Amino acid sequence: MTLDENWFSETHQDMAFSLRIRGKLHEEQTPFQKIEVYDTVSFGKLMVIDGCVMLTDRDNFIYHEMMAHPVLFAHPNPKNVLIIGGGDCGTLREVLKHDCVQRATQVDIDERVTRVSEQFFPQLCESNDDPRADLRFDDGIAHVKNAEPGSIDVIVIDSTDPVGPAEGLFSTSFYKDCRRALASDGLLVQQSESPLLHTDSIIRPMHDSLRAADFLDMLTLHFPQASYPSGWWTATIAAKDATVCFHREEAAEELPFHTDYYNAAIQRAAPATPEFFRRKLFA
Ligand code: SAM
Repeated sequence: MTLDENWFSETHQDMAFSLRIRGKLHEEQTPFQKIEVYDTVSFGKLMVIDGCVMLTDRDNFIYHEMMAHPVLFAHPNPKNVLIIGGGDCGTLREVLKHDCVQRATQVDIDERVTRVSEQFFPQLCESNDDPRADLRFDDGIAHVKNAEPGSIDVIVIDSTDPVGPAEGLFSTSFYKDCRRALASDGLLVQQSESPLLHTDSIIRPMHDSLRAADFLDMLTLHFPQASYPSGWWTATIAAKDATVCFHREEAAEELPFHTDYYNAAIQRAAPATPEFFRRKLFA
């Protein structure tokens, strides 16, 4: 079948993911990237940055919940959270569901992503006025470099792919700065792309860089994400000085807020390691 102009397609490594569209709702070139929003027939609204799917109405809940809840329930008492990237504000909304979080600072390099999200994805931005939320528009790399040592409990790196402004967010020097900014029981989580497509090119080098930055332990979580290349995605948690474990398992069992994907059983299952992945990462 040949696709006509009524389809959006993201091509990646000689594959394509396509959604039939009713039309393009928005397009702009910011100083950092090109942002587009489409109205799709089956996945609701779709945000695209530089040709890559960022989120859809239909499946963003999986990504945002998996970026926020496993790491926050793995920390004994997360009070001060820093989100790098995340301009659509979906991860921020999930982080703020945790009553123990006293401050959630979000630092995205591109204010336009947040303004476009407020316009087209208002449900993701519904916690932006929470008094605990602090939205800043700056380079996450510089922000972490200048952060007070030992001041942050959890860093969530909700970035675009490791090209353009996000490239440095996957580097050893950035992870060293993150480690310095974290308290001794601090944790970091980063979206870590597809195990099927990026284990050699991104996930393994990310583990190597985190180790080189002296993080003591890493755990990669797996989850489905239909609208991302291959439909299978990961988030990698790294612990500054401890082993990554499910510290607040009891609290997660009695989940005190609504989710659509995350629960305690998902957190226990998500680190299960497929054989090819185990061999490539740990053999
Ligand atoms: N869920 C998405 C994905 O994996 O495709 C990521 C979503 S979020 C919109 C990614 C954000 O990272 C973008 O808004 C982009 O502006 C931001 N970003 C990229 N590089 C950055 C940097 N150096 N500092 C802060 N934010 C950055």
